[in-house]
Order: sequence, then structure tokens, then C-alpha cells
Amino acid sequence: QAKRLGRNQACIYAGAPHDDDPERLALETALRHALRDEQLDLHYQPQLDLRHGRIVGVEALLRWQHPKLGRIAPDRFIPIAEETGMIVAIGDWVLCRAIEQAAAWQRAGLPPLRMAVNLSARQLLQPELARRIEGLLDTAGLDPRLFGVEVTESMLIGNFDQAVQHLQALRTLGVEVSLDDFGTGYSSLSYLRRLPVDVVKIDRSLVPDVTALAEDVSITRAIITMAHQLQMKVLAEGVESEGQAVLLAANQCDQMQGYWFSAALPAAAVETMLRDGRQIDPALLNRRSRQR
Ligand code: C2E
Ligand code: MG
Ligand code: MG
Ligand code: MG
Repeated sequence: QAKRLGRNQACIYAGAPHDDDPERLALETALRHALRDEQLDLHYQPQLDLRHGRIVGVEALLRWQHPKLGRIAPDRFIPIAEETGMIVAIGDWVLCRAIEQAAAWQRAGLPPLRMAVNLSARQLLQPELARRIEGLLDTAGLDPRLFGVEVTESMLIGNFDQAVQHLQALRTLGVEVSLDDFGTGYSSLSYLRRLPVDVVKIDRSLVPDVTALAEDVSITRAIITMAHQLQMKVLAEGVESEGQAVLLAANQCDQMQGYWFSAALPAAAVETMLRDGRQIDPALLNRRSRQR
């Protein structure tokens, strides 16, 4: 029935298999008001270069604070936003907000910093996506090289050709494309080779800790080697300890993000961090990498 309404019709029941779950329905209803009532916000998690230890970017992450329900995690509300189609409006708000923030930081004289935004599968289906992003960058006066998007492999599956076209168009502008959560899907070398991707983000489940077995470390190392052969950079996510950061640096991983350095923070806190020049001590990274 949803199909007959046409592809561009927002049909709230389309693909919502849980409309008998009262808790989910309550969240869905609440989410309809979240954008208008300004309950959504963006936090920003620093991404660091593992050679010099400097902050080179931030990832914008959605936060939803509901007056009665409290904080609701993205992993709970993003799937609802996806299934109901609300993600298109929410995603557009995220793009505007993140681009404006990044432009404001540049105007304030902060060091160059790339702003990365997570896209959703639905956004990749919008034929005007790349032009929309180009327009927003232009209006805000943000250099496209200071902007990036994150997509996952599963988003590309049903829609490979159009998704690839969008990503290609964005890269032509200078926007950086990252493949998020790498290692959780059916990742393969031949598949990765076909993707217009600048950065592979290793999922935190594949980021070894200091107690990891040699085999685990060799998997990480293999991903890094493979990505480098394809001229891609590698960012490790979910880095929670100094030991992990040092191990990654020693294995030529390019960048990292994670709670060890910082969780996602409100804009003002990130700004303070940048002004203070907070970074990883480069001696830590160099000393340990020479040991290996
Ligand atoms: P993601 O894009 O893979 O983002 C990384 C998630 O890992 C974030 O969770 C982040 O807070 C968390 N994280 C960062 N460092 C660590 C760490 O050291 N340890 C652990 N255990 N976790 C860490 P968050 O903010 O809850 O977001 C979850 C997911 O929701 C994101 O995964 C992304 O897929 C989605 N998401 C968030 N914001 C947006 C958005 O604006 N649009 C879309 N479409 N999806 C979003
Ligand atoms: Mg991400
Ligand atoms: Mg991820
Ligand atoms: Mg994720």
C-alpha cells in the first residue's frame, strides 16, 4: 500500500514494522516535535592525527534531550527517524547546523578543522543531496575541504549507483568521504576498491586493546595496509586508552577518535579545547612507535 502512494510521498507507516510497540510509538510521536521544539542539538567529537597528535577534525553527533523522557540515544531514535522518513528533515537540519558551526569556528580564527556529518540511507536517495550540500557550504562560506560526510556500507547496498554518484560529486567539490563502521558489514577488498572513499573508519569492535591477541592486531594491520594500498586514510574509532592509541600509531593508523582523548562535547567546550591547543603528546606517539 505504501508503494502505491508514490516514491516521494511521506507515508508514515511505510516500513514501520513496530507500530504495535507502545514505547516505540511514544518515541515516534515525541520525535515529531523534537525538531520544532528545539530539543535536538549537535555535539562534536574530536578526531586526531596520530603522527603529530593534533586535532584535525570533529564528528557531529546528534543529541536529543526530551523534557520528560530525558536523553534519548541516537541508536534508539535514528532508526525511528529512518523508518518514518523524518530523517530527511532532521538530516538537513544537521547539515545546516554543522556547516554553520564549522564556518563560525573559521571566522573566529580557530585552526583549520574538518567537520564530518553522518548521512543516512534516505539522504543518499535524495537526488539533490550533493547540490544541497554545495549550496549550504557556499552560503556559509565554508571551504568544502573543511567538510566531510560519513556513510556506511549497508547504506549503499540497495542504491549503489546513485550513492556512488553523490559521493563522487561531493569529492569533486573537495568534500571528504569516510566509510563508517568498517568491519561490521560484508567488507571486502574488491568492494572497497569500487567505493569513492577517502577514509576508512575502523569500527571500534575491531580496534584492539593492549591485551589483544597477536591475531587481532594483525587484522587491524591488514585493514590499514589494504586501505593505504587503495590510497585511503584510516581512522580508528572508539579508542578508549593510551595503549590503544600508541598501538594504532605504531601500526601506521592515520587518525583516531574516542573517549580516551574526548567524548563528543558541546560546541563551546570544543572551542575551548582548540583555543587551548589540546593535543596528544607527540613524544608519546613517536617514542612508542620506534620501539616496534
Ligand atoms: P557513529 O557514526 O559510528 O558514531 C560513533 C559513536 O561511538 C557515537 O555514538 C560516539 O559517541 C561513540 N563513541 C565515540 N568514542 C567512543 C569510545 O571511545 N567508546 C565507545 N564505546 N563509544 C564511543 P552516538 O553519538 O551514540 O551515535 C551513535 C550512532 O548514531 C552513530 O554512530 C551514527 O551512526 C548515528 N548518528 C549520530 N548522529 C547522527 C546524525 O546526525 N545523522 C545520522 N544519520 N546518524 C547519526
Ligand atoms: Mg560516524
Ligand atoms: Mg562508526
Ligand atoms: Mg555507528
